[in-house]
Amino acid sequence: MIHLTRDKVDDTYVVYHEVAHQWFYGQLGNDQQREPWLDEGFSDFGARYLMGIGENGCSTRPVNSEVFDWEADRTTGGDWTSCDGYFHAVFYQGTEFLNAVRAAMGDDAFFRAMRRWVAQNRHGFTTGSRLLGHLTDSTDTDLEPIFDAYLVDYVVRIAPEPPSASRKIL
Ligand SMILES: [Zn+2]
Repeated sequence: MIHLTRDKVDDTYVVYHEVAHQWFYGQLGNDQQREPWLDEGFSDFGARYLMGIGENGCSTRPVNSEVFDWEADRTTGGDWTSCDGYFHAVFYQGTEFLNAVRAAMGDDAFFRAMRRWVAQNRHGFTTGSRLLGHLTDSTDTDLEPIFDAYLVDYVVRIAPEPPSASRKIL
């Protein structure tokens, strides 16, 4: 179920972004306040990928910033518009980060890894450290320079395959 204000119903980006949320937090849960990039970054990436448009990140803030890193304003919800605001840092820069990982891994390996990530975590709870471990484990390419460029205080946790991994993975 998606709620949109009237002036957004014909905004293709917003519709695609909100549909992507049916996966990235809807099917794969995450802490939306501590690690908003896990759902907003992927939803921005999904919308832009489908629309064939690139990221327009200009932020210098880490992609894995918390919601609390921006002061909330009583009426506006805080900084959503400047380069170092929440939107640019987590959404746009999130897409830039994911595209950098995708370029380093190659499309096949990246999307195969993401399909496995969704299959293994559907209706579960995801964390950034487990996602970084999963991506690291899915390629021979050294992703750490990309992690260093976009993330702060991150942990790469390579987890054992969950019991449900024996399911058929598409
Ligand atoms: Zn969103």
